[in-house]
Amino acid sequence: MLMKKLSNGEKIPKVGLGVYKMTDKEEAINAITTALEVGYRAIDTATLYNNESVVGEAIKVSNVPREDIFITTKVWNSDQGYDETLRAFEKSLELLQLDYLDSYLTHWPVPGKFTETYRAIERLYEEKLIRVPGVSNHHEEHLRELEKSSNIKPVINQIECHPLLQQNELIAFCKERDISVMAWGPLGRGRVLPDEVLSEIGKKYNKTAAQVILRWHLERDTIIIPKSVTPSRIKENFEVFDFSLDQADMKKLEEYDCNGRTGANSSEPDFMRHFEGM
Ligand code: NAD
Repeated sequence: MLMKKLSNGEKIPKVGLGVYKMTDKEEAINAITTALEVGYRAIDTATLYNNESVVGEAIKVSNVPREDIFITTKVWNSDQGYDETLRAFEKSLELLQLDYLDSYLTHWPVPGKFTETYRAIERLYEEKLIRVPGVSNHHEEHLRELEKSSNIKPVINQIECHPLLQQNELIAFCKERDISVMAWGPLGRGRVLPDEVLSEIGKKYNKTAAQVILRWHLERDTIIIPKSVTPSRIKENFEVFDFSLDQADMKKLEEYDCNGRTGANSSEPDFMRHFEGM
């Protein structure tokens, strides 16, 4: 099962390629081309990543039909607000050389703005310019706020999630509301690896430690977007559909949970400080 059905009936690949920090054009095009060749059909970018035009180019030169690829981008913090989001969306479409997006997400819940930003995303959805409306880095309080201010609930919430930050409470809250969780930094941004326990588990299945982590996400029904520019790793990160972890192994991974957040915590009142200069 490579695809997950979403609450609005659309389908999304369970594994996509994250392209954060891929700003070197040749490197990015090579990575995306490799990914499409080995079977990836989803790409996660953002205005912040400054590579939407390269993503668009890589898709154009590939032999894969556009409608077979699930493309996500995100509205950056400085573009938030209703009109600003509509304008930012148009710019993203232009850079990506597309006429619709599969998913558009509020990148962070900017205080005082994120409800208006999401209202614009709702409008884009109603106008069929996006297939899946969503958000990112939204915690329970932000999702509750959106319940009051919007008519269409977010279908996806993309949050930091990996063995060091398992997000069980937020995931349970999203599940109750049929909001699908997409994990960013699924490998802990490289901080979990190398790891002997995970390698040991992997040996049982003839898999690597990275594959064990990625499979752990899939067992929890989380969509993942691991990033790599290395062809062998891009391939490795996609070869996670031919085994499953048993209960005992899942338990071993549970023990890694230690509030090991790498990014900003949007529940902190001053979390926007994290983005100064970005
Ligand atoms: P990640 O957990 O995917 O880790 C990426 C790093 O792990 C790579 O740079 C590489 O060093 C290492 N790696 C990758 N595959 C490996 C393998 N098979 N073996 C060993 N090491 C391996 O971290 P990420 O890039 O931060 O997150 C993935 C994607 O999530 C990003 O590219 C981006 O698209 C998205 N993202 C979203 C947000 C957000 O706020 N919404 C924030 C950060 C990232």
